Amino acid sequence: MSRVYNFSAGPAVLPEEVLKEAAAEMLDYRGTGMSVMEMSHRSKAFEEIITAAEQDLRDLMQIPDNYKVLFLQGGASQQFAMIPMNLMKNKTADYIITGQWAKKAAKEAEKYGKVNRIASSEDRTFSYIPDCSDLPVSEDADYVYICENNTIYGTKFKTLPDTKGKTLVADVSSCFLSEPVDVSKYGLIYGGVQKNIGPAGVVIVIIREDLITEDVLPGTPTMLTYKTHADAKSLYNTPPAYGIYICGKVFKWIKSLGGLEAMKERNEKKAKVLYDFLDQSRLFKGTVEKKDRSLMNVPFVTGDADLDAKFVKEAKAAGLENLKGHRTVGGMRASIYNAMPYEGVVALVEFMKKFEEENL
Ligand SMILES: *Cc1c(COP(=O)(O)O)cnc(C)c1O
Repeated sequence: MSRVYNFSAGPAVLPEEVLKEAAAEMLDYRGTGMSVMEMSHRSKAFEEIITAAEQDLRDLMQIPDNYKVLFLQGGASQQFAMIPMNLMKNKTADYIITGQWAKKAAKEAEKYGKVNRIASSEDRTFSYIPDCSDLPVSEDADYVYICENNTIYGTKFKTLPDTKGKTLVADVSSCFLSEPVDVSKYGLIYGGVQKNIGPAGVVIVIIREDLITEDVLPGTPTMLTYKTHADAKSLYNTPPAYGIYICGKVFKWIKSLGGLEAMKERNEKKAKVLYDFLDQSRLFKGTVEKKDRSLMNVPFVTGDADLDAKFVKEAKAAGLENLKGHRTVGGMRASIYNAMPYEGVVALVEFMKKFEEENL
């Protein structure tokens, strides 16, 4: 068996310890004589799995008691619709456009009400986060929406926007559990887990209780109403049980390493190795404004598309996989999520140094 360093943006690398544990429990989960894939979601064993997963997430993020944690399906993209369906009481919302995911979310919300794009960084290919200290927040906005870490462009909000008292809604798919977070500043936080937490198929929604109501837009399906899942503790119907089980193991892994403070330290240390190299390289350059750089997704280019392609190909041959940039951006992107070891980033930088010497 040989594992590569997998720099995929998602689905992405998972901690080896977690995969080994899951493998060991595959045929017989703790004396039940079956795999977690095969057991009833109403069984005692699964009830323990989902209860522990929620509690560990609450501990890690210090989620206040007046927030619910929901384990849902449909990916982050389904939330683009579910959020307006549930929260657009005045049929108005403000969106900050910092990349493709925020753009898509805004476009979907337009099906349900008025969308104001109150800030954008599209003028410079989303290479920075716009100044959000004094936004023209709409008086009747039901919420202000951000994509906190922009997976494709490699930018991250280092300070949250001043929403002038409006509810903040954030897509944290690609920075979930990468650093400490003050949940009380948000009305709703959500993310697909396949970037930084677990296997594809689970989306986690952390939502303040007063936002969970029966007063949703007319025609909202039962399955797309937060209250349905909040009332049933994410067991209204069959949840993505195996995915939740793996997420639970990742929560325990993060706890064992010291929680989100420790994650932040690890992630800063990893990202620094790569950014420091990019800042002095004569061949490669980062594409994002320094102050807005993501710790999770690091895009870079040589400036020559053929050379970029050669780099991606040779890196793969050297065991450094999935470094091709997003199809809308080109170049390269290294996603260095929680589970990417420090050694993986060092190996990448060593390879980049060698490639630079050979190709300059
Ligand atoms: C990947 C991603 C999405 C889309 O996730 P799906 O689960 O595929 O719908 C949305 N937002 C962000 C920030 C992402 O990185």
